[in-house]
Amino acid sequence: MGWKCSECGTRIEPATGAWLCTCGGVLDSDEAPVLRPESWAGRPATMWRYLEALPGLRGAAVSLGEPITPLVAMEVEGIRLLVKQEQLFSTGSYKDRGAAFMISRIGSLGIREVVEDSSGNAGCAVAAYSARAGIRCEVYVPASTSPGKLVQMEAYGATVRRIPGTREATAQAVREAARERFYASHTYNPWFIDGVKTVAYELAEQLSFRAPDWLVLPAGNGTLLLGCWKGFRELVEAGLLERMPRLVGVQAEACAPLVDAWMAGLAAPRAVATRPTAAEGIAIAAPARGAQMLRAVSESGGQFVAVTEQAISASQQVAGQAGFFVEPTAAVGLAGALKLARSGVIHGTVVTVFTGHGLKALGHG
Ligand SMILES: *Cc1c(COP(=O)(O)O)cnc(C)c1O
Ligand SMILES: [Zn+2]
Repeated sequence: MGWKCSECGTRIEPATGAWLCTCGGVLDSDEAPVLRPESWAGRPATMWRYLEALPGLRGAAVSLGEPITPLVAMEVEGIRLLVKQEQLFSTGSYKDRGAAFMISRIGSLGIREVVEDSSGNAGCAVAAYSARAGIRCEVYVPASTSPGKLVQMEAYGATVRRIPGTREATAQAVREAARERFYASHTYNPWFIDGVKTVAYELAEQLSFRAPDWLVLPAGNGTLLLGCWKGFRELVEAGLLERMPRLVGVQAEACAPLVDAWMAGLAAPRAVATRPTAAEGIAIAAPARGAQMLRAVSESGGQFVAVTEQAISASQQVAGQAGFFVEPTAAVGLAGALKLARSGVIHGTVVTVFTGHGLKALGHG
């Protein structure tokens, strides 16, 4: 019941604090899920109804009451979509799924202090669940991060460390800190993706155990995309779904290493030039799990697609005028779904996700 390197298969014990294999490979959890829908329906409508598929928890989960989020129909230009309302979590983004499970597992190891690096929603979620668990939390952010985004982390009592220079300087600083304290990384810690995979179980239940034809997701580091992929794969392996949905990873054209790799037929992303984007939540130039993301999308029969800043802003407005207030990053999935539906590439049951609340990024985009 530990972690396993995705490259060389070496087993890693989580309590050691290792977050990457010595070979450089990212780690995955290797814990067999039990999926028993008969027991789900009678339980409270939170992500913990899937408890047996989230193995290894000793004691109570660290919870802020994670709701089963609504799946709401929306029609744009005659295109019908179903949108999962993941902006409705306590901290305002789906990152709560990952943080709730990851902090639960970290807490049950007896760890009382964690570090994380994120300037956005992951930092907020890790800070909130650490507060709930009584774990001390330090979040490393680039000094250029706009102060507004840090207010929420500080409200949860996290220590925010502003690091001068590039995003890479911040990554360097957190790695330094992670030598002595546990690195509760949304990107590297496999438990984060295990928490996120519950979104797939919910979708399966909400669609009466038929997979969507297409699942269109904003993609940066891939926690949402890989979480969905893992959850749906488990449902298919358990015989609860006949097939996977086709996965579409949507990136902002201004920062699109995965679209670049997809188009070039590469197995892993390469260095790309980037520009600033309103979709700050997925502005990841070098995604550590990029090779896994490319493999997941390819195996599902889906694709990666880029959307312009104009399309992101237009989608945010379309969402608002339909009654949904979401941050620019959270409109990226909708922008991608509309782009592919207009050109006839995707059809049938199309699901996308509103990943973050609009109040998160006032004054952006
Ligand atoms: C984290 C996040 C995403 C997806 O990002 P990944 O880096 O791919 O996990 C999408 N939207 C919002 C609002 C986010 O915070
Ligand atoms: Zn390895």
